[in-house]
Amino acid sequence: TDMKIGFIGLGNMGLPMAKNLVAKGHEVTGFDMVEANRAALAEAGGKVAGSAAEAVAGASAVVTALPAAKHVRAVYEGDGGILAAAPKGTVFIDCSTIDVESARAVAKAAEAAGQMMVDSPMSGGVGGATAGTLTFMVGGSVEAFAKARPVLEGMGKNIFHAGDSGAGSAAKICNNMMLAIQMIAVSEGFNLAARLGLDAQKLYDISSTATARCWSLNDYCPTPGPVPTSPANRDYQPGFAAALMLKDLRIAMEAAQAAGAHVPLGAHATQLYSLMDLQGKSDRDFSGIIEVLSGKD
Ligand code: NAD
Repeated sequence: TDMKIGFIGLGNMGLPMAKNLVAKGHEVTGFDMVEANRAALAEAGGKVAGSAAEAVAGASAVVTALPAAKHVRAVYEGDGGILAAAPKGTVFIDCSTIDVESARAVAKAAEAAGQMMVDSPMSGGVGGATAGTLTFMVGGSVEAFAKARPVLEGMGKNIFHAGDSGAGSAAKICNNMMLAIQMIAVSEGFNLAARLGLDAQKLYDISSTATARCWSLNDYCPTPGPVPTSPANRDYQPGFAAALMLKDLRIAMEAAQAAGAHVPLGAHATQLYSLMDLQGKSDRDFSGIIEVLSGKD
């Protein structure tokens, strides 16, 4: 069941994902604009192409992991686009986090080109990408989902069919809005504890088994000490950069406005992450919001 897979976007997430597909025995041909990223794939046993179109020639599946919607549209659509360059019947799997409307528009262009496409944003970070334990939330037809599934199983552990085209993107931005609010809540708790003279480890021991327990507290604690693997212990090196969280929150806020949803804490979280950005800290991990809130530089 080895497949011929084209892979576009070999960044923090894409490179370890492509490496896992190579390790599973698939023939992976990759492309990224950055030469060092292409070289890293070649070193891991993948093939490298001179353009995105060249990478998808002859592929039965194509995976993309690009920064934002404008990159996705540029790579997929138009003359040199991968939708036109791949054989008919190829399944396209976009793992980038983009807005629902753009995801639906690219899927429509795929259909018009006689191709199948799913939006398949992911959760689990660079750690999950490296370990091959990502969660994928997939939007598209049942048929496209069935074709995408074996490829996704080579990169992740939990694979959900969220619904029709765009449903994966919707799930991802809702998840990340909840995550942003949750991380701010946990940060406020630890900052208050510090002011009250309560030891951070004690608060962790209590709250991680009490009603405030959650991923941001139990698994990714924003204060150094309690969770040794969390970015707080390496001066907030990402991980998941605050810039990407801010991008996702902005997508969520646009969606909420268009859909008429009331998201007061999501709006506040967006303001706090844009403050972190204004302070020049957007390349740090998003859990560094705790220092923005405590006033520490
Ligand atoms: P990244 O910036 O590290 O990687 C993106 C790659 O795409 C870069 O290497 C860039 O050179 C390449 N690229 C851009 N335009 C291109 C083009 N036209 N042709 C070929 N290559 C091109 O970003 P990342 O952290 O890997 O994230 C990718 C996506 O996954 C984003 O949408 C992000 O929001 C999402 N995501 C990231 C994480 C995380 O923890 N980093 C977790 C879940 C989801």
